Amino acid sequence: MQEFDPKILNEKPIPPPAEFQRRARLRSLDEYRKLYDRAKIDPEGFWGEQAKMLDWFAPPKKILEWNVPHAKWFLGGKLNVSHNCLDRHLAKSANKIALYWEAEDGKHLKFTYAQLHERVCKFANALLGLGVKDGDSVAVYMPMIPELPIALLACARIGAIHSVIFGGFSATALSDRISDAKSKLLITADGGYRRGHVVPLKETADKAAEACPSIEKIVVVKRTGENVAWKNGRDLWWHDLEAKASSNCPAPSFDAEHPLYILYTSGTTGKPKGVLHTSAGYLLGAMYTTQLVFDLRDDDIYWCTADIGWVTGHSYLVYGPLANCATCVMYEGAPDFPKKDRFWEIIERYKVSIFYSSATAVRAFMAWGNDWIAKHDLSSLRLLGTVGEPINPAAWKWYFEVIGGKRCPIVDTWWQTETGAMMISPLPGATPTKPGSATLPLPGVVARVATLKGETVKPGETGYLIIEKPWPSMLRTIFGDDERFKRDYWSRIPGVYFTGDAAQCDADGYIWVLGRVDDVIKVAGHRLSSMEIESALVSHPAVAEAAVVARPDEIKGEAIVCFVTLRSGHNHSAALRVALIEHVAVTIGSIARPAEVRFADLLPKTRSGKIMRRLLREVAEKGGVSGDTTTLEDMAVIQKLAAAAIDED
Ligand code: ATP
Ligand code: MG
Repeated sequence: MQEFDPKILNEKPIPPPAEFQRRARLRSLDEYRKLYDRAKIDPEGFWGEQAKMLDWFAPPKKILEWNVPHAKWFLGGKLNVSHNCLDRHLAKSANKIALYWEAEDGKHLKFTYAQLHERVCKFANALLGLGVKDGDSVAVYMPMIPELPIALLACARIGAIHSVIFGGFSATALSDRISDAKSKLLITADGGYRRGHVVPLKETADKAAEACPSIEKIVVVKRTGENVAWKNGRDLWWHDLEAKASSNCPAPSFDAEHPLYILYTSGTTGKPKGVLHTSAGYLLGAMYTTQLVFDLRDDDIYWCTADIGWVTGHSYLVYGPLANCATCVMYEGAPDFPKKDRFWEIIERYKVSIFYSSATAVRAFMAWGNDWIAKHDLSSLRLLGTVGEPINPAAWKWYFEVIGGKRCPIVDTWWQTETGAMMISPLPGATPTKPGSATLPLPGVVARVATLKGETVKPGETGYLIIEKPWPSMLRTIFGDDERFKRDYWSRIPGVYFTGDAAQCDADGYIWVLGRVDDVIKVAGHRLSSMEIESALVSHPAVAEAAVVARPDEIKGEAIVCFVTLRSGHNHSAALRVALIEHVAVTIGSIARPAEVRFADLLPKTRSGKIMRRLLREVAEKGGVSGDTTTLEDMAVIQKLAAAAIDED
């Protein structure tokens, strides 16, 4: 692969803020390295030791059985995931708040651990009453209301496999996923709220169920009170079931490898895959990383803004924090409703100390401007996190200065639905950060940047991010398609896990994830990453967001096409277009000079906020899209982009 030398690689590391470091669990790179090396030398010893943070009904007899690419962790161990998240905390923390929930309309609820436990027990009994057995799959299609985590924990309690389908998906996307997982039961709500509007979930669920013969019952939470169609015998109100259910539901014991859930990847790259996670290894991964990466304390107020429809919500709003007995904030609605300071208002109201959000969200906050933030007291914050996409250095610095007041470390956490838990991230009291780099692998994770032959690339060269050893929270298979599991993840470089992400490693061993392998652009024999060009664009004062794709070019192989949105106060013009092209050429080199810059009001994103470059590539190439758009948040965006291209040409 070609070498290039992004300017970001020469940045000086930023040490952990001193006040944070003073109180942190791990306080220096040396301490990190000691732990890292211990895990590397004896992974089974290390993970066996970590696994003691779980509450076992029977301890594991064997730590790992590894028949590439199939791993079994903690064999012989028995536990109950819901017991680990709830029951075991009751002796000391029954009255500690487990969950603060805020509705979009401002209504609040709070649940202590005792109250959450009671609701979960009742709903678990309701599920048992409906004939749900361990190993059955239960589809969950719900808004961000407390019944969502309750449903998950109730499934886990009785050994049913939950399959959460994000509440913004269409009927087709929903029925595809229900059919693939062969779910018997569907849990939904009459509706949800988004920016003040009702999202008719039950209506969509009904349409999906028509195409899904496996569905026997639909349990419906009353959220909006709107009229909904009802099929007697099939449809049941959640509140009726809960009212009749006993709150006594002992947690049975399950094997460490009992399946916990299926979660379909967001589909930014095509047909969704049902990633299967199992009990003990997954829970350990979520719990261990929540402790270590957030440096979690007993008195933290922790807020992960992700929807539970995505893996981040599973691992870092439900399983990781609850296993750690944390106090969590959960918010139902949109960040800009009723105004663009809703998040800052929530931080101020609950005195949030740990805030974990997406890189895309950070860029949106930055584009909305600092006035929204200045109105609020954010002094309770002590740690910030990002996930989901590479965060460009300009957005990182803004996050650090404006939101974190330079006192909060930022953990840029790299991981995937498939990895179950964070894999590469700074440890906030120990790792000096470099804006834009997820820094170093966590203890227990062996990550490397390699060529397709498996050779480590030199610092500053682009390669493939791979993971060499199995880890407890890794996916066990693709549900119903083990061949695809082997092919997609374990055969590109035989015997190692292929992440599908392109990355670089710098001279300090820091990893810079550049984006998906498909997002690497080849211009005249040089490899450039979309992310690097986007980062250059966003460093221009007029640009809020940028997405860069390639279109085929007869001479150069591929030509660079940039889609940009502007910050408030800037207007698009031919002069600005020329200026942006020059800006990229000057920042990265003339090899990266864009062939086109197109202005847009919005970029097409998945509902988890990721830019769908696959669709932009189609727009750039053909002027429209024909591929799967079921994961797109707003279809109108594509029509506008295609129209804008024609207007301007
Ligand atoms: P699909 O696999 O269906 O295309 P997806 O990859 O977007 O969907 P996720 O599993 O939620 O679904 O996202 C994982 C991906 O997100 C990673 O492979 C990587 O490309 C990107 N990512 C996550 N965190 C980071 C990060 N901190 N830095 C850079 N990239 C990140
Ligand atoms: Mg992926």
